[in-house]
Amino acid sequence: MTVSAALPLPAWLVRDMDLGGVNTFGLAATSRFGATVTSDAELIAAHAFSRDNALPVHILGGGSNVVLSPRFDGLTLRIAGKGKTIVSRSAETTVVQAAAGEDWHELVVWTLDHGLPGLENLALIPGTVGASPVQNIGAYGVELADRFDSLTAFDTQTLTWHDFNAADCRFAYRQSVFKAQPGRYVVTAVRFALPSVWQPVLGYAGLDTLPDTASAGAIFDRVVALRQSKLPDPRAIGNVGSFFHNPVVPPSVRHALMAEHPVAPAYGQPDGSFKLSAGWLIEQCGLKGAREGQIGVSDRHALVLVNHGGGTRAEVEALAARITEAVFERFGVSLTAEPVFY
Ligand SMILES: Cc1cc2nc3c(=O)[nH]c(=O)nc-3n(C[C@H](O)[C@H](O)[C@H](O)COP(=O)(O)OP(=O)(O)OC[C@H]3O[C@@H](n4cnc5c(N)ncnc54)[C@H](O)[C@@H]3O)c2cc1C
Repeated sequence: MTVSAALPLPAWLVRDMDLGGVNTFGLAATSRFGATVTSDAELIAAHAFSRDNALPVHILGGGSNVVLSPRFDGLTLRIAGKGKTIVSRSAETTVVQAAAGEDWHELVVWTLDHGLPGLENLALIPGTVGASPVQNIGAYGVELADRFDSLTAFDTQTLTWHDFNAADCRFAYRQSVFKAQPGRYVVTAVRFALPSVWQPVLGYAGLDTLPDTASAGAIFDRVVALRQSKLPDPRAIGNVGSFFHNPVVPPSVRHALMAEHPVAPAYGQPDGSFKLSAGWLIEQCGLKGAREGQIGVSDRHALVLVNHGGGTRAEVEALAARITEAVFERFGVSLTAEPVFY
């Protein structure tokens, strides 16, 4: 069966869904069909509809890590289920569960309001709880994987739900099984293990001036202030945060870089490799403020591409290609984009 333009649609489904307001890059985009999914029953119905009509499916949370096409000839599902609860307490951890459609930052605030520290370093990251494991969000020395208990996801191949523990998720730097197999799983709830005996994580630049006795609330306030001072606010100017991963390179590449640029930031990793600063590499190429049409490199932070108004996906791709080529030519280092191109 294929869906006719004249056929009435189920109440939860819309034609020509406008996605312009639901991607933080502010790219103009529409989807042939779209639905805001708040329950398991709607999720099953939506996937049945996509199968019956041979439609590809895109999953969207807050749209803060995607570069959308002007037109998607398929079904976009905005995951919007709500609910936060404490599911268990032990001597080691308190496990908190949040539905995928919950706002990430609001969850961080909620846990602190309930006297449950652990997520404060991850304050003010835009987006939903459901997307947080997809790229194993991280900031200021903490990754989601550090506070993860388990999650529930819908398998779109078998139309069944599965629980995933940390090993199943295959978390790595901005990676997981969900990012590696886009579209296969829809995360519907995530559980976090927050430590009963909490230790502040203060090693990251900007937090290292706080006292060892700093409370989770003080760390939260500092992270919020740092992020507000460094990153352009997507409500003021369209962006998706860091546009490139920080490249992880073998010691030989780091050695060659340091020989020419002794001040180049490079952070040793447990496996002996080094993480370089993509923003520093881009800035050294003189690309801060560079533009392709209405898309530019932020003049506040070279790792962030911004939409000056009316920018297009083609301009995003052109600028990203220019940056990648310039960095490779100058340093021999390959950059990879962080957001998902839909
Ligand atoms: C200003 C700014 C700052 C940022 N800072 C950081 C940062 O410090 N650290 C960091 O890690 N990220 C950062 N990001 C990126 C972004 O906030 C995160 O990746 C966030 O988790 C994306 O959430 P979202 O709901 O907006 O996902 P979306 O952009 O809607 O989707 C991103 C990907 O996740 C998939 N997805 C979304 N929801 C689900 C679901 N329920 N189930 C399965 N797949 C799903 C989508 O299909 C897509 O592939 C920043 C972004 C901005 C704009």
